[in-house]
Amino acid sequence: MMTNIRRRALSVLSILVLSSILNSQPASAQAATSPAKLSVHWEELTASDFRDGVRRSQRTCLLPFGILEKHGPHLPLGTDLLDVRYAALHAAEEEYAIVFPEYYFGQIAEAKHEPGTMAYSRSLQLALLQETTDEMARNGCKKILIVNGHGGNQHLLPYFAQSQLDKPHDYVVYIFDERTPQHGGPAKKTTIDMHAGESETSKMMISRPDTVHQDRATNESGADQARQKLPEDVYTGIWWYTRFPNHYSGDGSAATKELGEYQMKWWIDSVVKAIRAVKVDDVSLKLQNEFYEKSAHPLDTQP
Ligand SMILES: [Zn+2]
Repeated sequence: MMTNIRRRALSVLSILVLSSILNSQPASAQAATSPAKLSVHWEELTASDFRDGVRRSQRTCLLPFGILEKHGPHLPLGTDLLDVRYAALHAAEEEYAIVFPEYYFGQIAEAKHEPGTMAYSRSLQLALLQETTDEMARNGCKKILIVNGHGGNQHLLPYFAQSQLDKPHDYVVYIFDERTPQHGGPAKKTTIDMHAGESETSKMMISRPDTVHQDRATNESGADQARQKLPEDVYTGIWWYTRFPNHYSGDGSAATKELGEYQMKWWIDSVVKAIRAVKVDDVSLKLQNEFYEKSAHPLDTQP
């Protein structure tokens, strides 16, 4: 009996001690406690929430990369930007990462003949991207996952990533450049589907249906004009214009919401997987640092 009373008294005492310890924490420490829900939008976080977000994301930040260019006769200029942000933001909600604001300063020289195209020079594309990732890293984003929404960036981005080896950086650039599943989902009706066609129009029906003018999708031809007679393994910069001078490849009138739902879900799931893989990657930065160190004195490097 006595033992029980003593035990209860002791447990009451320990609760009192514990609560006094908790209450004695400085106000600032309590204020710094991160809210249960942190925004994934870089621009919506307060400075102190940003600090918590960087910690929560394990220093993983997304840079969704769009463009401003014509998308056939029926989709908005910002199609790639709107779609990639939809996919990246939904993925980051599922697997927390901080998402950089609107970025659309990529390679789009091949659409300069169309209204509304913003085509920055080659040197500015690289300089701006480098300063952007440098600044992201200076703010704690040591793993930067570029989620590409624009086909015309397919050479720019691997080149950018590879050129990070030219001098030491304390962060890693990762590229994710898939937008459309190769198979599965509702059967597709078209075979040529590279730009503003069945797939892209379907995805826009999910991300921003209010901007899709599907009734205009047949106002121009998105057929392959196949005007250049070269073997497939010989590349020129004008290849796109020779095949699709209307900056339209495919047929947006074939698009459906069902296909859009399937493809957008696949895209979001794929970005979630990429974020998770980047978070657990403890090899790239380590070996990147080892590489930089060896690069400073190549004659000492043993075979
Ligand atoms: Zn596009």
